[in-house]
Amino acid sequence: MHEVSIAYGILEDLQRETKRHGVCQVSRVHVKIGSLREVVPKDVAFAFDVASQGTVAEGAELNIRVVPARGRCDECEIDFDVQTDTSRFGFQCPQCRRIGAELISGKELEIVLIRGTCKDGKPKSRPSEWPRERQAAGYFSLG
Ligand SMILES: [Zn+2]
Repeated sequence: MHEVSIAYGILEDLQRETKRHGVCQVSRVHVKIGSLREVVPKDVAFAFDVASQGTVAEGAELNIRVVPARGRCDECEIDFDVQTDTSRFGFQCPQCRRIGAELISGKELEIVLIRGTCKDGKPKSRPSEWPRERQAAGYFSLG
C-alpha cells in the first residue's frame, strides 16, 4: 500500500534526524506532502502509528499538510493549478496550451518540524546545538 511506504519513509527520515540531534522521544512531527502523491492523510497517520511502535516516534502526533500542485508557464509568466500528474509529458499551460510547463509544487514529501524531548522529559540538546538553518526553518523545537 502506497500510504504504508510513505509512512515508513517519514519514519526513516525521522529516526536519522533524531539520532543525529540527540532527540530520544518525538512528541510531534509536521510533514508536507504534495497533492500529486495522492495520499489519504488519515491512512498515512494510521500506518505511521503502527510503523512507529517501539521507535523514537512511538505515540508521536503526525501532522500532515497537503500542498496543492502548481505549475508555471515561462512563456505566459503565470502559475496555475495542476490537477493530475502528467509529469512524463510536462504540464499544460491553461492559457497558451503549451505542454511542458514546469511543476513548482505538488510532489513534496518532507519533514518541516520535529518536536521532541529526552526520555527523562528534558531536552537532550539545546536548540542552539541544533543546526542553525534548521532552527530558522522551524525544523526543531522543544517540548
Ligand atoms: Zn502559457
